Amino acid sequence: MSTMNTVGRPTTPNAVSEKPATLTGARGLLQDEALIFESDGWGKTGVDLPEPKTDGGDLGDLVRADPIGLPGLSEPEAMRHYVRLSQKNHAIDLAVYPLGSCTMKHNPRLNEKMARLPGFSDIHPLQPQSTVQGALELMDSLSHWLTTLTGMPAVALSPKAGAHGELCGLMAIRAAHRAAGHGLRSDNPRNKVLVPTSAHGTNPATAAFVGYQVVEVKQTDDGRVDVADLASKLGDDVAAIMVTNPNTCGLFERDILEISRLTHEAGAYFYCDGANFNAIVGRVRPGDLGVDAMHINLHKTFSTPHGGGGPGAGPVVLSEALAPFAPAPWVVGGKDGFRLIEREEGDAAQAFGRLCAFQGQMGMYVRALSYMMSHGSDGLRQVAEDAVLNANYIKARLSDVMSAAFPNGPCMHEALFDDTWLKGTDVTTLDFAKAMIDEGFHPMTMYFPLVVHGAMLIEPTETESKAELDRFIAAMRALAGAAKAGDVDRFKGAPFHAPMRRLDETRAARSPVLRWTAPEGTNRAA
Ligand SMILES: *Cc1c(COP(=O)(O)O)cnc(C)c1O
Repeated sequence: MSTMNTVGRPTTPNAVSEKPATLTGARGLLQDEALIFESDGWGKTGVDLPEPKTDGGDLGDLVRADPIGLPGLSEPEAMRHYVRLSQKNHAIDLAVYPLGSCTMKHNPRLNEKMARLPGFSDIHPLQPQSTVQGALELMDSLSHWLTTLTGMPAVALSPKAGAHGELCGLMAIRAAHRAAGHGLRSDNPRNKVLVPTSAHGTNPATAAFVGYQVVEVKQTDDGRVDVADLASKLGDDVAAIMVTNPNTCGLFERDILEISRLTHEAGAYFYCDGANFNAIVGRVRPGDLGVDAMHINLHKTFSTPHGGGGPGAGPVVLSEALAPFAPAPWVVGGKDGFRLIEREEGDAAQAFGRLCAFQGQMGMYVRALSYMMSHGSDGLRQVAEDAVLNANYIKARLSDVMSAAFPNGPCMHEALFDDTWLKGTDVTTLDFAKAMIDEGFHPMTMYFPLVVHGAMLIEPTETESKAELDRFIAAMRALAGAAKAGDVDRFKGAPFHAPMRRLDETRAARSPVLRWTAPEGTNRAA
């Protein structure tokens, strides 16, 4: 017997839940794979090493007496081990990764090709600067694009993630206040940072880490900063506000100019969390909104791989007022070529120090600039437009079966739903997300932002085609129909088809088992 699936292709009835587990542990052609330590590669090696020329006598007591106790695999076995493991996970190269607030977009292969050019990939951060002029020029060009796109005069490239950028911005703000006599431990402390309720958790965490007291700002019913509440909390004890724009509800802060005016009037700085810059790049310049510092997640807006695929990079653009406090290093260009300012001296006397060793994530700089230059300024504007269009398409196509958290008006780059529509079904946001996995879709961001009950935050990005969005929407609508029709088992037991079933995620996070323990009596290491 055959029926039609959600995209109209014939399929056999879904009987997996009734069927016994397979005899081998494999599922279809997806292999079951043990840990490398549990494989039978002990005593084996994939390479022939020449006999050592000495007996190691010059190492004295450090000569190993016992076998090393590490598993060995031949080259094809090693290959299969890692490919099998990779198939247990999801990847942006497989299908849509609709995680809101994460911007999981396609990473063009051109970026990868550029990052592998030997002039970028085979250099060392301690090489004489005269030998890495191309790399320095690239950093200079990237700085130019970032300051131009944001309308800000300066940028600190080195922070290695969005959260690290927040740290950079708040340290610059702390340094600026200190220089003006408002040190944290002085008589005139300015020891508070205002953060809206809907903020990403890194915002209050960063403020607290830098030594500030975090004060929450309320949100209005339509998902924006409550300006009256903000105004009532601003005063000469406030060092900065941290506002995300577009915010984590996927909405543009309509009162952003008023917010920055009030902030500056109170003598505080405006830190903007720019993680969602991809929704406005080429359309809005944060510098025009009165922003003093903003991090840009290159791995979100400018398509460098992340989420297990590579390191992030979180350059911070700075206003005139904060620029003198930017951390080293930065690149300057002159008639003799490019050079790095690496110390707090001369023009850089007020720099607050360094955030990391060396110059930051060079490979990400190359990928991001490659993305920018291949799009051009018009293409980047279209990135923002298409990202917003795609999110609104999802919002429009799902709003009759699911409940949009802020139904009035369009959203920006992500569509936010709450769980009102699941009332009475006995299905939770978590159950729904797990059932999505069975249908071949990675779940959206769940239960964030915290201000929306049972939140489901969907970000398609501009790189999904209409056909792919329609496939996603068809699956979501089919699942919504199943939930409302009382097909609860499909949800409560999900995922049925994934390599792992429902895991105790809290326990996995709180007490992870990160060390393999050798069986008693074996001489095996891990
Ligand atoms: C992703 C994100 C961050 C943190 O960025 P990382 O690069 O993950 O450190 C901060 N704020 C918002 C709104 C984000 O979406």
